[in-house]
Amino acid sequence: MTLDHVETLECTRCGATFDPERVVYTCPNHEGVAGILEVVYDYDVVDDRFDAALDGDIPNQWKYRAFLPVDTDAEPVTLDEGGTDLLDAPRLGDELGVDLRVKNDGLNPTGCFKDRATSIAATKARFGGQDVVTCASTGNAAASLAGYAARAGLDCRIFVPAAAPEGKLVQPRVYGADVLAVDGSYDEAYDLSLEVTDAYGWYNRNAAINPFQIEGKRTVGHELAEQTSDEIPDWVVFSMGDGCTIAGCWKGLREFAELGYVDDTPKLLGVQPEGASAIHDAFHGAEDHETVAETLADAVAVGRPRNTVKACRALAGSGGTAVTVTDEAILDAETLLGRTEGIYAEPSGAAPVAGIQAARAQGIIDPDESVVAVVTGFGLKDTQGAKQAVGDVTEVAPSLDDVAALYGTGDDGAAGGDGGSDGSSLTGRGA
Ligand SMILES: *Cc1c(COP(=O)(O)O)cnc(C)c1O
Ligand SMILES: [Zn+2]
Repeated sequence: MTLDHVETLECTRCGATFDPERVVYTCPNHEGVAGILEVVYDYDVVDDRFDAALDGDIPNQWKYRAFLPVDTDAEPVTLDEGGTDLLDAPRLGDELGVDLRVKNDGLNPTGCFKDRATSIAATKARFGGQDVVTCASTGNAAASLAGYAARAGLDCRIFVPAAAPEGKLVQPRVYGADVLAVDGSYDEAYDLSLEVTDAYGWYNRNAAINPFQIEGKRTVGHELAEQTSDEIPDWVVFSMGDGCTIAGCWKGLREFAELGYVDDTPKLLGVQPEGASAIHDAFHGAEDHETVAETLADAVAVGRPRNTVKACRALAGSGGTAVTVTDEAILDAETLLGRTEGIYAEPSGAAPVAGIQAARAQGIIDPDESVVAVVTGFGLKDTQGAKQAVGDVTEVAPSLDDVAALYGTGDDGAAGGDGGSDGSSLTGRGA
């Protein structure tokens, strides 16, 4: 039984260190803005233990177990998270004017990349003898935690803003969790979950304060490094809410480069909605960057991001930057991604596509640079937003005449010379 590959937990604000064997969330030396802890590894031990071939065959994220902050004796709580495909996206790439690939992380077990982190949380909670896990969430982390708690046989009690999309409130209840819908914002739900953790001692999965969570998110960086080792992209693009994901990815990318597994690292582009742009604002030097979040991209509707420091370090360290996009651009991106590549993302998952458009327009991404967009969440979790973009369905009577009225008669398949070519007029868009 050993955790000897984890050296210490180090405060990102004051450098104080803590014992990784104890459940510590944040550095107690600070009031107000939390001192987020960083997990520091002994890379000699990690490198020694990591003996998998970097051949692109990735069954799930536990391929990188040597890098994960779990005891060598711990039995993983897994639903096969990670190992998601990196797809060529030529039609969408043409539209955006870049050489594009898409990492489709919406295909994780609960429909969101957060499963990477939750798998670590559930593994550590069960191994540590905890009975109850909790978190606050805009929806996806809650659903993810509920699924993995069920898998692990743990009780799950989660706090979500009452305004979360219906699908995200139903999913965790199917997994048997207690869902406590807080009459307030995500930020208020978050503060309540911290008080509850203090009062009851439940294991808190909140990625921004639980230093081990972000460590699971690193595996998206490990996978990208492995999957792109012979063609490292110029840019990797993420949406940002609390900022843990982009920071986790950067740590994974950097580790693989520093250990010599790959030659280089890409630049990171972080994307936020105009109505929830605190990390973007902080990165570009704004003093007072906390806001009240206002966006339909609910998974990144974060007014007070908990991981601004780590996220800004990731953007700067990679030589990248941050952009904002409008909600309209996000919805357009969702349908563009769907109709060009057959990939259905929730708004926060499609935001990187809108971010690439913005970055192209601003001259941040040059024409024909190679770009990987990471789609973080699956579209069926939130059909409300998408409905605004696709409009109403076209109604027809069960008669061929109604179809003929739309497409012409079907004799030779080309009646009226217009075949099905103007099918786009059926979407009801703008009607
Ligand atoms: C949580 C989430 C994000 C943002 O991740 P952060 O770590 O909060 O920056 C992006 N997309 C989806 C689908 C999410 O669920
Ligand atoms: Zn500190």
